[in-house]
Amino acid sequence: MDLPKTADIVIIGGGVMGASTAYHLASRGVKNILLLEKEQFFGQGATGRCAGGVRYQFSTEINIRLSLISLPMLERFEEEVGQPIDYRQCGYLILLTNPDDVQQFQYNVQLQHSLGVQTDWLPGDEIRELLPMMNLEDVIVGTFHPKDGLADPNSVVMGYINAANRLGATTLGDVEAIKINQESGKIVSVETTAGKIDTPLVVNAAGPWAGMVGRMADIVIPITPLRRQMLTTTPLPEIPSDFPFVIDFAQSLYFHREGEGLLTGMSNPNEITGFDQEVDPDWEIAHLESATMRMPLLEQAGLLSHWAGLYENTPDAHPIIGATPISGFYVCAGFSGHGFMHGPVTGKIMSELLIDGQASSLDISELDLERFESGRLIKEYNVI
Ligand SMILES: Cc1cc2nc3c(=O)[nH]c(=O)nc-3n(C[C@H](O)[C@H](O)[C@H](O)COP(=O)(O)OP(=O)(O)OC[C@H]3O[C@@H](n4cnc5c(N)ncnc54)[C@H](O)[C@@H]3O)c2cc1C
Repeated sequence: MDLPKTADIVIIGGGVMGASTAYHLASRGVKNILLLEKEQFFGQGATGRCAGGVRYQFSTEINIRLSLISLPMLERFEEEVGQPIDYRQCGYLILLTNPDDVQQFQYNVQLQHSLGVQTDWLPGDEIRELLPMMNLEDVIVGTFHPKDGLADPNSVVMGYINAANRLGATTLGDVEAIKINQESGKIVSVETTAGKIDTPLVVNAAGPWAGMVGRMADIVIPITPLRRQMLTTTPLPEIPSDFPFVIDFAQSLYFHREGEGLLTGMSNPNEITGFDQEVDPDWEIAHLESATMRMPLLEQAGLLSHWAGLYENTPDAHPIIGATPISGFYVCAGFSGHGFMHGPVTGKIMSELLIDGQASSLDISELDLERFESGRLIKEYNVI
């Protein structure tokens, strides 16, 4: 399809944020929406490389509230959007081995309870009984929420893209935004590898690349890319079908069932900012050593696949959602490694901001871009 010459709204980025925003705008009747994705296919950035985890277990009120709206939207996704997404409520079991984390999690669980999220507090012995295939001698306690779980990121992106298209939105792959033009502090057009589009509104939904897209409009957006990697194994019949999403919090090491095997990932604390998406073989060895200590069954498994992707980190591990000092230029990015699950609610909120001028689903004023200048940071503890 040819690039339109004009659009009412241009969305830059075809990951979960861009796709959800396009769908929610289109479902509110906005017609002339154009979504641009630089890759040939949608959802090949952070979204397509993510672990697919969805959870209520956060340490800040705003993240818990985003989950409280977004996860039920995922539950209703097939009914609303017409696409199955393989949502499995296997629960997240977060293992705590360090007394400082135990103390912080006591606060987190209290906050979750106060907001209606009934996370369970499990003693170490109970966890050892539940997961006899793991080495858990050092686990003090764990937290478990049965409605946390997994969903398929590609199905969510394609569900939103296809539904947005049915409602009249235009979504184009292989088109990269390269310049954003403004006049007297207002957005006027976007230049791309396929030509120029006149538009008064641009949504920067470029995930780990959102800082670069910000620079195209001369706006500093403090989002930095950070490589994270994971792998899947050949079948392990000893892993039960109801195995939860298990996180060894102190090591940022996690496991969940993927097909008949396991998916495991571990965050490298020494990783440096950058756009490299190649698997780091040295870190893979370190990761596998730690993973095998926890899950000795891994010695019997083969490597099925491995890949790396980019977290889109902000200085306080919370997203940036809202307007910028340039009239017509909006940001919806920076979810810092846990944004797939907040894609549904964020797209809805973006549609409210763009159509109504304010968000009615949730007060997201604390997630504004300005907080970094004024020092209003909101630190999230539960970053994996
Ligand atoms: C290894 C890993 C594991 C993760 N695990 C989880 C998890 O379990 N649960 C969870 O909720 N989150 C997880 N995340 C985080 C989650 O993937 C992200 O928060 C979320 O996908 C961000 O979505 P996005 O749409 O903002 O970014 P993206 O999916 O990266 O989409 C941005 C898109 O913009 C495109 N783009 C960039 N620049 C331009 C341009 N100039 N022109 C046109 N297009 C452009 C990119 O190609 C990309 O497709 C994980 C991330 C990684 C890397």
